[in-house]
Amino acid sequence: ERKQVIVITPTYNRALQAYFLNRLGQVLRLVQPPLLWIVVEMTSASAETAEILRKTGVMYRHLVCVNKNNTNVKDRGVHQRNAGLEHIERHRLDGIVYFADDDNVYSLQLFESLRNISSIVMEFVALCLRFHSQISRIACLFCSHFGTWPVAMLAQSKNKAIVEGPVCNASQVIGWHTNEKSKRLRRFHVDMSGFAFNSTILWDPKRWNRPFSNPIRQLDTVKEGFQETTFIEQVVEDESQMESVPPSCSRILNWHLHLDAHGLVYPRGWLLQKNLEVV
Ligand code: UDP
Repeated sequence: ERKQVIVITPTYNRALQAYFLNRLGQVLRLVQPPLLWIVVEMTSASAETAEILRKTGVMYRHLVCVNKNNTNVKDRGVHQRNAGLEHIERHRLDGIVYFADDDNVYSLQLFESLRNISSIVMEFVALCLRFHSQISRIACLFCSHFGTWPVAMLAQSKNKAIVEGPVCNASQVIGWHTNEKSKRLRRFHVDMSGFAFNSTILWDPKRWNRPFSNPIRQLDTVKEGFQETTFIEQVVEDESQMESVPPSCSRILNWHLHLDAHGLVYPRGWLLQKNLEVV
């Protein structure tokens, strides 16, 4: 069974926004069969974003996140991603959910690989084989509902590329690439755009809807740098419930960029929107 892909993108008005959204939209437009793009802004829907989305030719939903909790956490799209998840839950959208930040670079192959994340419901087989760890591990690969892969990060200021994500043996995740000392504290070393999961997880009482844990509220207060691992810890128990996408993690399919667009100098005489769309 091959599922629809549902992409959640938090975005906000700043210089380069038009460039980022157009670039991402153009890749998404090429994905076949068409996917659903959930684009979420904070507080209000901007006319600039609405205009770009209309022109992309991608099937989209333009949402607004009204944050009622007044947390001090530096946001960076957290509440918007949660609003996207709430939308999926409320409308019971069936598909592979993927968080794609607007400023990263994605290959077409990535979106095509997402569809291969196992969606066969074999929970009952896993249950029967629970006491035989090796077989249970294999069974879990068929019902993982959760895929992850390495993402390359390019830090403009540090002038270096690093890789973060799983080390794999065929489809199994057997370890993690990690670079920074402080990040050793994280359970899973995955980039926000380095994993995707079947939306059925969201209505699985053993995972997302476990009693006493409300990940939507929790994520709002999680320290920066721990968002991904905290989220993943809520939906999988360990690496045996994950699969690599594509198998063996042998290629980099997307890049996480850190471009600094503050203090841009604009060409004289041109009329520019605040998101750098030229009119
Ligand atoms: N973002 C947002 N509002 C903000 C900051 C970030 O919507 O105030 C979005 C941004 O458009 C991007 C994602 O959140 O899609 C991640 O932002 P950024 O790349 O700045 O964070 P980083 O990846 O550097 O932590």
